[in-house]
Formats: sequence, structure tokens, C-alpha cells
Amino acid sequence: RLVSPGKQQDPEQSNENALRPKKLVDYIGQEQVRKSLSIFIQAALGRQEPLDHVLFHGFPGLGKTTLSYIIANEMGAGIKVTSGPVIEKQGDLAAILTSLQEGDVLFIDEIHRLNHAVEEVLYPAMEDFQLDLIIGQGPGARSVKMDLPKFTLVGATTRTGLLTPPLRDRFGVILRLEFYAPEELVAIVQRSGRILGMEVDKTGALELGKRSRGTPRIANRLLRRVRDYAEVGGHRVVDKKVADEALNLLGVDQYGLDDMDRRIMLTVIDKFDGGPIGLETLATVVCEEKNTLEDVYEPFLIQSGFIKRTPRGRVATAKAYQHFDRRVPRHLTA
Ligand code: ADP
Repeated sequence: RLVSPGKQQDPEQSNENALRPKKLVDYIGQEQVRKSLSIFIQAALGRQEPLDHVLFHGFPGLGKTTLSYIIANEMGAGIKVTSGPVIEKQGDLAAILTSLQEGDVLFIDEIHRLNHAVEEVLYPAMEDFQLDLIIGQGPGARSVKMDLPKFTLVGATTRTGLLTPPLRDRFGVILRLEFYAPEELVAIVQRSGRILGMEVDKTGALELGKRSRGTPRIANRLLRRVRDYAEVGGHRVVDKKVADEALNLLGVDQYGLDDMDRRIMLTVIDKFDGGPIGLETLATVVCEEKNTLEDVYEPFLIQSGFIKRTPRGRVATAKAYQHFDRRVPRHLTA
């Protein structure tokens, strides 16, 4: 899906790596996060110690992975990248931990998806830089203890509430990433355009920024598709008109909504008189999994004020009616 904020497989992934800013000063937006990190990094460098463990939380595509690379770079350290679901066994984590060098960053994406047994190994590693493992079972089982190099764990998750409290408590720094403002996305799109060797003027970048759901990953993805359109059409510069035509062709409207978003909203408005409609019913009508609806589609619709979650189900807002040029029901205008 073009406007999905989640990571996608290669070659998209390698494109993404090319567009990551490498230094904190090149990282656009998230001012609070940047300021805090800059202070913590300077302090750690001054003390010649690794940075405290950092937890980033925020929606996919907002720059958590990028920041973890930046931390390693600014600290002059190496980085190992993995993710919660990939580390299945205690031994998997032990292998990663024992391969770290002093000061390295270990980035664990989707850290909330670590299983309980693996988490248990992480606690002493984070707290005392100790590996504490039981090998084998029954009477032959023995415990192995080992010192680990001092490292910085950087965890990423969508919501801190998904982490178990003991894991959450072991992070010294917890930072939340917000959706980006259109002007910030303009800067991101123009920077990416320069790297990709294309000219995007301010009006074109703004058009892309407005339709990217506040998310750099989506902005960069749309930019690549617009590049295709511009190249084929012989447009040297991506301006508002070119961006607009390309994005309309791609089915991404001026709010960054795609067909599925529109189907969800129109179902609530037309088939259920604006709601409330239960999540399960909505999922059945639009032929989508309940969880996907809740985790993938709904957050943006709620965040941008098109749909509201109420105890009795989902309801369409006045903004949703206006978006489709429908008459806003009286109870919503009062
Ligand atoms: P996450 O880990 O939160 O899913 P990523 O760090 O992988 O997100 O970012 C996705 C893409 O967006 C990357 O290509 C990255 O270059 C770009 N990006 C994210 N944040 C910024 C930013 N603040 N400035 C410039 N580009 C960014």
C-alpha cells in the first residue's frame, strides 16, 4: 500500500537507507527529541561513557531507526540492528550481546514483541552488563554468567504501553516521536529530492508534504512515485501541478487518504448513517482483518479527525461528511 507507514521489503528498504540523515543536525523536525538527544550525547561523550539506554516510541515511519543510526554515528560507535520478533530464543540474544564491542549501539525494533524468556536475559544485560543464562534442563542444567561490554540499547516501539513495566523501567531515556508538520515534510522532501537528483520546488514539496500523513517514510515513497511520473512525462521540475497530477493518478487525495480510507469512511457515513458502528462489523463490511483496521487504517483517520472512537463504536465526524461533500447531520453541527 502506497500510504502505509510500515517498512517494506527491498528494494524499497535500500532506497530508504540512502535517504537517512546521518547526523543530528541533518535530522529535520522533532525538535524536543533532537534537543534532548544532543544534550545526552554530549554529556556521555564528555564522560567517555556509553549513552544511557534509549526508548523511542511513535508510529512507524517517523524516524526511530534513523535516530538510532544517528546516535551510533554521533557517539562514534558501531551499531547492530535487529527486531523483537527475530530474536526467538535466549541463545539468539546471547549471541548478539556477546558480539557487541564496548560502546556499541544495539537497536531492537518492535521491542515490545520480544518474548518473555528473551526479555529475562535482557534485564541484567541492560542493568549490569551481565549475561546470565541457564543452559540445559533438569539436573544437568547449569548457569552461565559473563561480563558484557558496556553498550547502549536503543529500543523502538509504537506505544510504551505495549512494553512490560520491568523492561520500560530499564530505559534511562524515553522519547516520543510526533507526526511531522507539512513545513517539516517540505524540508524532508526537498532534501530527499536533492539526494535522488531531482528538482522539487517548494510548491511541489508542499503538495507531497500535505499528502504524506505526517510521515517521512510515506513522503519519500510518494516522492519516488512522483519522480517516475515526472520522468515519463518529461517534466524537469516537480511543482504543485506535477505532484498533484501524479498523486491523483496514484489515488492519494489531498489529505493523503487512499481508496481503503475512503471506503472505510463512506461505509460509516452511508451504510451506517454516520455510526456508531462496531469495529467487527466495519471490518466485515470493508473486507479487512479487524486488527489491520485498528492498527493500520484507523490511527490516521482518528488522528486527522475523520473518525471518532466512542464506547459504542466508530462514528464519522463533520469533517468526514464535508470531505465527501455530504450534508453534515444536524447533531454534528450543534
Ligand atoms: P521508523 O524506524 O520510525 O519506522 P525510519 O527511521 O526507518 O522510521 O524512517 C523512515 C524513512 O524516513 C527513512 O528513509 C528516513 O530517511 C526518513 N526520515 C525519518 N525521519 C526523518 C527526518 N527527521 N528527517 C529526514 N528524513 C527522515
